[in-house]
Amino acid sequence: MKIAAAKDIMTTGVVSVSSETPLFDAAKVLRDHDFSGVPVVDEKGVLVGILTDYDLVTKGSALHLPTLQKLLHTLPLHGEEDTQELKKIKSLVVRDVMNTDPLTLAPDTALQEVVETFRAHHRVNPIPIVDTARRVVGIIARYDLIKIFDKALLRSSAEGWAEDAFELLQKDYVFASNIAEEKMASAMQYIQTFADAVKSSADAILITDVDAKIVYVNPAWERLNGYILQEVYGKNPSVLKSGKTSSDVYRGMWEALQRGESFVSDEVVNRRKDGTEYREEISISPMRRDGVILFYVAVIRDITKRKEVDRAKNEFISLTAHQLSTPLTVIGWNTDALLRERMGALTEEQKGYLAQIYESSKGMEELVDMFLNIGRLESGNFALRRESLQLADIVENVLRNYAISLKQKRIEIVKQFSQGVPLVVTDARGVRIIVQNLLSNAIKYTPAGGRVTLVLKAEEGKIYFSVADTGYGIPAAEQKQVFIKFFRSPSVTTMVPEGTGLGLYLVKMIAERIGVTIHFTSKEQEGTTFVVTFSV
Ligand code: ATP
Ligand code: MG
Repeated sequence: MKIAAAKDIMTTGVVSVSSETPLFDAAKVLRDHDFSGVPVVDEKGVLVGILTDYDLVTKGSALHLPTLQKLLHTLPLHGEEDTQELKKIKSLVVRDVMNTDPLTLAPDTALQEVVETFRAHHRVNPIPIVDTARRVVGIIARYDLIKIFDKALLRSSAEGWAEDAFELLQKDYVFASNIAEEKMASAMQYIQTFADAVKSSADAILITDVDAKIVYVNPAWERLNGYILQEVYGKNPSVLKSGKTSSDVYRGMWEALQRGESFVSDEVVNRRKDGTEYREEISISPMRRDGVILFYVAVIRDITKRKEVDRAKNEFISLTAHQLSTPLTVIGWNTDALLRERMGALTEEQKGYLAQIYESSKGMEELVDMFLNIGRLESGNFALRRESLQLADIVENVLRNYAISLKQKRIEIVKQFSQGVPLVVTDARGVRIIVQNLLSNAIKYTPAGGRVTLVLKAEEGKIYFSVADTGYGIPAAEQKQVFIKFFRSPSVTTMVPEGTGLGLYLVKMIAERIGVTIHFTSKEQEGTTFVVTFSV
């Protein structure tokens, strides 16, 4: 088959609409035929405009996307759906939103020019082909360009795709009539190497054109989803939608791609051909040539197992923590009773040993509590109780637990509590954990002889609680990381070896859960100030 001009690849027998067609019916035409645009003609078949899916969602004040989607889904409309907005839309006709000055091409336009036109106007799709009297004799969609290679070269096999794309991109090779055979062969070999790499990748790879139509999937993708390339070729990747992915993820994806950026997410739940579901991590990047986006390449990884392992791991930790909690309490109580000499007098040496046991068991209890709380927060089981709280009382109460370490480290506590700070209504357990961790850090990361200042004040409808220390500070480069799970600054771990790096992670999660904000400022060798803001 010889392909030389627009007329050799155009679709004849064009479906068209008139400028008086209700927009509504025109939208149905687009949807039923899966067209991205339809020519608008007068009674003589002369082109007067074009209506694209793009026009439907961007032009005409009444047509806003969610309404349109609803409309397309419920066609034909039922009486009760006729809201004010829908009535307005129903009265619109094609003329109201169509583009009256569409790009057109003549039947004899050389194929090379057709390709150039699509490249130069990447928003345009499709292009009507008109004769000298401007009568529509055919239409070409961008997609037809890919299809010609389908026909002319290998059918949509994996290698076929690579060659299609290659031919499209390397217009000089494709359209120059005198291609040197060996030049072509070496270029083909080059592209074949890439095609092989993509094909043998263990990660699933999917490539779409700019209209989000699938042009290629690799064998790993086929194995993951249960579809073969031929079944999804030309379709939108939404065939995999499970309905369980938050629309925020798709919005984020769409916005990033619109800006020409890459997109990465691990929040997507897909449905396979057999109906089963899996969770994927997906990264999509635009593939450009001469600054124009030609394809989108998506690399997909099935992370269902990883998520399952994470869940099992968390469950294990929380189960273990539960089991440890009871014996630890028993150890704590009984050593306390022994220390108080309830079971008889003790020597100083015995008391010393018991005190050590007591201290260690308290440390372990705290750790177990931390694991339990993290488990609860991560699984969404951290129940909140709303109570009216006097923050000063909570702070005083927590402070009492640190009396010994404050004395040992000769750290001075300065309290600046304003009078008349109103009560806050929130969860006491959560606030306690926050105060306790901030205070514990301030003491832990301040050398002996330092000072910790606690401020409590109300201003402009907000209550501020701050903990300022004169300690080691957090290096600027690490400040972004302190709330990350298990993060501990390498600069302090030698001075303060004990710690899990879970404290601030827990603090952050609780803060989000109970609706308070936490900020901090810090300077190395000068100190750190954490501020908790409550709204009343
Ligand atoms: P844990 O609280 O689980 O015992 P941790 O104190 O190391 O361990 P976080 O409370 O999460 O963990 O703190 C994370 C890291 O942030 C600390 O290891 C430390 O490097 C830094 N950091 C936190 N608070 C301060 C502070 N007041 N001064 C200096 N560095 C701090
Ligand atoms: Mg800590």
